[in-house]
Amino acid sequence: MKVLVVDDQRSMRMISSTVAKSLGHEVFEVTCGQEAVDFCRDDKVDLILMDVEMPGLNGFEATKKIREQTKTWFPIIFVSAKTDPKFFAEGIQSGGDIYLFKPIIPEVLESMIKAMQRIASIQDELHSTKIKMELLAHQDKLTSLVNRRGFDNAMALEFEHAQIEKTSLSLIMIDVDHFKPFNDHYGHQAGDDCLVAVSKVLRESMCRPNDIVARYGGEEFAIILPNTSIESAVLVGQRIIEGFKNLAYKHEYSSTAAYITVSGGIAGLKGNTTPEELIQSADKVLYKVKESSRNNISL
Ligand code: GH3
Ligand code: MG
Ligand code: MG
Ligand code: MG
Repeated sequence: MKVLVVDDQRSMRMISSTVAKSLGHEVFEVTCGQEAVDFCRDDKVDLILMDVEMPGLNGFEATKKIREQTKTWFPIIFVSAKTDPKFFAEGIQSGGDIYLFKPIIPEVLESMIKAMQRIASIQDELHSTKIKMELLAHQDKLTSLVNRRGFDNAMALEFEHAQIEKTSLSLIMIDVDHFKPFNDHYGHQAGDDCLVAVSKVLRESMCRPNDIVARYGGEEFAIILPNTSIESAVLVGQRIIEGFKNLAYKHEYSSTAAYITVSGGIAGLKGNTTPEELIQSADKVLYKVKESSRNNISL
C-alpha cells in the first residue's frame, strides 16, 4: 500500500514510517495538513497516519478536506498526543477511522494498519467481482467473449477505477481486414469459424488476467487493458499481429496478406477523457491504419 505519514515532528514521522515500511508498504511523508490535502489530490494514497496538532490545518481539518475531495474511502488513522475522549469523537466525525495515542506503540500501530488493510482490500475485491459479473452476464454466443453491452459496462467500471486509483488504462480497437471477401468466398459458416479463431488469437495475446477482450460487433473487437500504458499496449498490439502471422489462417482473397490479418488503433487515458472519447480516438487511429497499411496496430 501507499502510506502517507503526516506529522510536523520529524521523530514522530520516523516512528510511523518505520512501522509502515517494516510491513512492506511504500511510505511518503509530509509535514502539515495542507501538504497532506495536496498530496492526496495529486496521488493515490491507500492509508494515512495523521497527526492532529500541526501548524496551519490541523489533522481533523485536513481529514475533512481529504474526504471531501476523494471519491472512495481509504483508512485514515489519527496518531495524537491529545488523549481527551472528546477528540476521539471529533476525529471520527471529521472522517477518520481509528484514533491512537502518542507515544506510539509499534505493535499496536502495526496491528491497526493490518486491520485497516483487510477492510480496504474488500473494495478491490468488489471491483473485480463487478467486472467478472459483467463478463459472465454479457457473453457473445459465437466467440464466448464479452459482448458490446458487457464491454460498455466493463469499460465504465474500469474507467472509473483508473481515475480513482490514478492508474493508466489503454484501449485497442481492432477490425478484421478484408472480412467481407472472406465471407463472400468461403461462406458465412466459414466466416463464423474464422471469427472464433480470431477471438482465440486475441485472448491468447493477453498476458494479464485483468485484460478484457470484447466482441464489439461483427468483425470488430475491443480490448481494455487496465493499468497499462500506451507503450505497453503497443507491445500487446505487436503480439497480436505476430499471433495472426503464426496462425496463418488462409485468406486467398485478401489484398494485404495470404492469411487473416487485423488492423487496430490504440488510445490511452489522459486528462479528462471520457470513455466515449477514448473509443473515438482509438477508432480514428484504426481508420488511419486501414487507409494506409492494414495488418498493423498502432498509436
Ligand atoms: P476492411 O478490411 O476495410 O475492414 O474490410 P472488411 O471487408 O473487413 O469490412 P466490411 O465492414 O466491409 O465487412 C465486414 C464483414 O463482416 C461484413 C459482414 O457480413 C461480416 N460479418 C459481420 N459479422 C459477422 C458474423 O458474425 N459472422 C460472419 N460470418 N460474418 C460477419
Ligand atoms: Mg504535531
Ligand atoms: Mg468492420
Ligand atoms: Mg473489416
